[in-house]
Amino acid sequence: MFQTTIQREVGTEGVGLHTGVFGHVRLLPAPADTGIVFRRPDLDNFAIEASGHNVARVSYATSLMKQGVLLSTTEHLLAAIYSSGIDNILIDIDSIEVPILDGSAEPFLELLDQAGIRRLRRRRRYLKVIKPVEVIEQDRRIGIYPASDFSVQCFVDFPHPLVGQQQIEMIVLPETFRHLLARARTFCFERDIEPLRSMGLIRGGSLNNAIVLTDGGVMNGPLRFPDEFGRHKALDLIGDLALLGLPLLGRVEAHKAGHALHTQLVSRLLADSSSWVITTEDRHLEETPVAAEAPAAD
Ligand SMILES: [Zn+2]
Repeated sequence: MFQTTIQREVGTEGVGLHTGVFGHVRLLPAPADTGIVFRRPDLDNFAIEASGHNVARVSYATSLMKQGVLLSTTEHLLAAIYSSGIDNILIDIDSIEVPILDGSAEPFLELLDQAGIRRLRRRRRYLKVIKPVEVIEQDRRIGIYPASDFSVQCFVDFPHPLVGQQQIEMIVLPETFRHLLARARTFCFERDIEPLRSMGLIRGGSLNNAIVLTDGGVMNGPLRFPDEFGRHKALDLIGDLALLGLPLLGRVEAHKAGHALHTQLVSRLLADSSSWVITTEDRHLEETPVAAEAPAAD
C-alpha cells in the first residue's frame, strides 16, 4: 500500500457552526510524509498539524491549537479525509473554524471527489494497536483494541423518542464511510439552544446545518437515516481518530462517548508507545506478499 494525496486543488466556503465566522477552505496536494496539515493563510500560513499533540479544549466540537492559534470544528472534514485514505493534504482555512456546510461530511466528500486521489511512491505507514487502551468516565467509555483492520463500534443513548439507543458497527473503508456515515448530520436539542448560545456557541447554527430535536420530534425533518444520530456520532469519532496522524489498524469501541473522550483516547494511545507499533504492512499485504508494481508519481 502506498501513500496518497489529492490530485488537484479544490475549495469551498461557509460559516463555522460555533463562531458563525465565514471562511474559505482550500485543499491542496502535499508530498509523502506530510500528513494532514491545516494552515491559516490569514496568519502567514501558520501550520497546525492534525495531531493529538495539538488538541485544545474540546467540548461540543474538536479544536486544535498551536502556539495560541486556534482552529475549531475539525472533525467532519477530517472524517472525510481519513476515511478516504488520504495520507497527505494541506488544508488552508482563513478563519478560526472549519465551515459547517450542511452539518455532515458529504460536502467534504464531494470536494475530495472533485480533487481526485493520487498515489505517491512512498509506502503507507500504519499505526497498529498491539495492546488495549481505554478511557472510562462513569457510564461513558471508549477503548481501542488490536485488530487486523480499522473498525468502529459506536453506541449512543439519548432519552428521546427519535433517538434512544442506537449502535453503529463497521469496518472503516472509503465505501462504507460514504454509504453509511457521510450524509449523517450534526444534531442538537431545542432545549439546549439557548444555553449553548449563552455560552457563545452555535452562533452559525441554523436549520440548514443541524437537525433540531424538539421534545417529541424533529423540527426540520425528514431525517436522512432513522438512526442518523448514531451514525453522526460514529462520523465524529472517525474524524477525531484522524488525530492519530496515521491510518489505523485497530478496533475502537465507543459507549456514550464524545469529543472529549475520543481525544483523550488519542492522546493516551499516542503517549503509550508500548501499545502500538508503526508498520508498512497491512493485512492485505500479509496475505499477498508480492505487491503489484505501482504506477506511482511523487
Ligand atoms: Zn459532528
